[in-house]
Amino acid sequence: MARYPSFEDYRKRLESFTSQFPITGISSTLFAEAGFYSIAVQDYTRCFYCGVGLRGWDNTDDPWIQHAKFSSSCQFLIEKKGIEFIRSYQPGNSAGFRSTETRTTNEKTERPSENDSATTIRKLNDNEIRLHVKMRMEYPKTRMLLENCSELGISQALLEKALETRLDLQNDDFESFEDWIEAAKNLSNQP
Ligand SMILES: [Zn+2]
Repeated sequence: MARYPSFEDYRKRLESFTSQFPITGISSTLFAEAGFYSIAVQDYTRCFYCGVGLRGWDNTDDPWIQHAKFSSSCQFLIEKKGIEFIRSYQPGNSAGFRSTETRTTNEKTERPSENDSATTIRKLNDNEIRLHVKMRMEYPKTRMLLENCSELGISQALLEKALETRLDLQNDDFESFEDWIEAAKNLSNQP
């Protein structure tokens, strides 16, 4: 079963890559063919089938290959590319392939370490995320932020959504309130 059935349709996935999508070196058709859709936050993408979330794309990346590296058991991927293809992109010890440092040597791409490779996500489950968001919204500092958020042009719902998205895709909280506010604003600018 697809985790995100509303993007089962190739056209839907393709349409999600609007002109706002920041990666121009990889064609939208290639993303969509490889199962990915844009969630309309920066370059965050998700496979409609397995739900793996990847970001940090390089213009030289191949979505199929990144898909294989980060979600080797995706049935959609297996059906389209076959087991052999997927195997060829697993690091030697297959147990650890879900690490974020999976750029293998057969790729020539160099990138700064803080930006290392497409980051796989989905380490927190939905309950953990909800709990974390709930806790975070009750911090005294957050309450102060909430009191001012209408001035900033954002709502509590946007802040919650920004945090959820961040935790879901990056498995990581925001480093600062500024970052959080910015992410919420980005969300509010989405159509
Ligand atoms: Zn997948």
